[in-house]
Amino acid sequence: MPSIFTKIINREISSDIVYEDDLVIAFKDIDPKAPVHILIVPKKEIPTINDATPEDEAALGRLFTVAAKIAEENGIAEDGYRVMVNTNKYGGQEVYHIHMHLLGGRPLGPMLV
Ligand code: 5GP
Repeated sequence: MPSIFTKIINREISSDIVYEDDLVIAFKDIDPKAPVHILIVPKKEIPTINDATPEDEAALGRLFTVAAKIAEENGIAEDGYRVMVNTNKYGGQEVYHIHMHLLGGRPLGPMLV
């Protein structure tokens, strides 16, 4: 079964896409937790960080440079923002296709653990 994010990549499910290249795609989270809440996703369907291999390093590295670009475009780079990747049950992962959350636009406070 393709992940819901693969369906977004393949345009089988609509989403508000803000960036796309050969390795990654970025779109607005359907349930935003901050004024800016974007998901940045490798096009390759890697379920969790635990499944990442050295050949995925280009795509996973791209998540950070795209996050910085989107932060700048949304005017949140200077004040600051948070990126995070939830992993498995204890990490609160709901969609098993690696994705980076980019959150900003308000003070986010200390990270909850
Ligand atoms: P996780 O808990 O796996 O780190 O985060 C999954 C995120 O995906 C959640 O923030 C959730 O709101 C978002 N999400 C789930 N389904 C969809 C969808 O169909 N479209 C979009 N744009 N976001 C989704």
